[in-house]
Amino acid sequence: MKKLSTKQFWITLFSLHLLISIMVIRFVYAQQEEKITQNLKNILISKVQILNYQTSLAIDQHTIESTIEFLDSSCALDPLIQSLSISASNETILLSSNRHYKNKPFRIFQTIDFDDFKGTTKPTFRQIIHSDLKTFTRLPNETHYSLLIELDQHTIREMYRNSFIQSLSTLFFLSLGLFMTLVFTFYRLYIQPIQRIKTKIETNQLIKDNFWVDELRYLDTTIIENTIDIHSSNFLLHSLINATDDLIFFKDNHFNYLGCNEAFLLFVGKSKEEMIGHSDFELFNLETATLFREMDIEMLQKNKIHTNFEWVTYPDGTQVYLQTQKIPFHYDKDKLGVLGISRDLTQLYLAQKELKKQSYIDPLTKTNNRRSYEKKITKLIALHKRYTTSFSVIMYDIDDFKKINDTYGHNVGDKVLIEMSALVQSTLRVNDSLCRIGGEEFIILLPETSQESALRVAEKIRSNVENELHTIENKSITISIGVCEVRENDTEDTLFIRVDSLLYDSKRNGKNRVTSALQKGYPIAIS
Ligand code: GH3
Ligand code: MG
Ligand code: MG
Repeated sequence: MKKLSTKQFWITLFSLHLLISIMVIRFVYAQQEEKITQNLKNILISKVQILNYQTSLAIDQHTIESTIEFLDSSCALDPLIQSLSISASNETILLSSNRHYKNKPFRIFQTIDFDDFKGTTKPTFRQIIHSDLKTFTRLPNETHYSLLIELDQHTIREMYRNSFIQSLSTLFFLSLGLFMTLVFTFYRLYIQPIQRIKTKIETNQLIKDNFWVDELRYLDTTIIENTIDIHSSNFLLHSLINATDDLIFFKDNHFNYLGCNEAFLLFVGKSKEEMIGHSDFELFNLETATLFREMDIEMLQKNKIHTNFEWVTYPDGTQVYLQTQKIPFHYDKDKLGVLGISRDLTQLYLAQKELKKQSYIDPLTKTNNRRSYEKKITKLIALHKRYTTSFSVIMYDIDDFKKINDTYGHNVGDKVLIEMSALVQSTLRVNDSLCRIGGEEFIILLPETSQESALRVAEKIRSNVENELHTIENKSITISIGVCEVRENDTEDTLFIRVDSLLYDSKRNGKNRVTSALQKGYPIAIS
């Protein structure tokens, strides 16, 4: 079943009320009429019974006269019938009034069938009052008589008046109810919805100027309420879009801006009016605008989300790293535009970069850690295999480091590691990498360096450490070194094993010395 609108519901209710009221009034009136009719009927019955009693004895002039006498005396007792007279001619007996009401006769003529009056016929009030039987029915036999009754008009009026007053009071209460329903209906249909709308406008902080509140009553309130709800949703959506730091914009199918959020306006340094309806070529330099346009076209052609990462410069010179997502955007039923959301990832990008850097750095000595070493050596070996680019490796280990730790403590040992690393680093070139691969074992990678050159570097390092590292007073610290150059078919492992064995040779041959592959088998201390 179709659901009634609020308006239809209240109008239906009001109509029903009206219908019921009319029916009740009709019923009350009918009741009153019935009552009056009954009164009259009772009177008639009593009179006719008297008459019947009289006439049943004998219908002759004498009887009629005595009947009249009797009726006159009974009429004196009954206020309704002021007088009755009876006359007869051949077959007809005539009963007639000889009184007038305010000099005007008020006569009611009624043919009464005595049998009917014993219970079956119910002449209505109107029938009794208005039937004008001036010509009396000829009576077919002795049991039928015509009766003429003159009623007192004043009494009848009184009866009418009572009935009228009763009807009127019923009518009054019904009208009062009707009026209240009307007022309530009006309140529910017009006052209350407008109040509700006003409250909504206030609580949603909508700009009142957008609505002519006083004009609302001429409009469909349901539509207005829906409009306000949509307006509130829009308001919320706008607030959300503007609350974010992301740059949000949308362009039409000709790549002109349809709108954007506050963050985007800040980014381009323009007002909304300067933005809307304009293209990227009017807002950015040619290079940037061309890039944006190409991405827009590509995304629309593929008709799927396109994500792009880029560094862009704000008008104030700030550089930011943006992740931009371009999404197909449907508007105006069948048109396809571009919805863009750019997120500033600068902080995240820098943090990630720092983390990545940290993951390759040894926290104690700030040199490259083992992970970094592995990455670098793999890269050098690959380069060597591809381009036969040569490189050399220096590996060193602190001599008697356990003793240093045991004698001066672990902290001093750490300090030795830190200061030695700084010293070694200072003797290296920019392209060389110092890597801590174990507790106090280090490898130096020297790209594009021959074994001879590497040997010279190693010797310089050994000498510097022995002579210039003054972490512990009056005690020189020394290192043992192995040096070798990459060979054809070397892997990370073969190279490591070779340089490690050269270092071991230096240890075995008395420490504080350099052993290179050239000298292998002829270990000599260069110092
Ligand atoms: P060698 O001359 O044969 O190398 O003798 P060594 O005592 O140096 O022996 P080894 O190289 O095996 O010693 C390694 C020691 O280095 C063991 C450990 O106590 C110490 N060590 C390793 N890492 C650290 C560190 O981070 N800090 C300190 N203070 N000591 C470390
Ligand atoms: Mg060691
Ligand atoms: Mg050692």
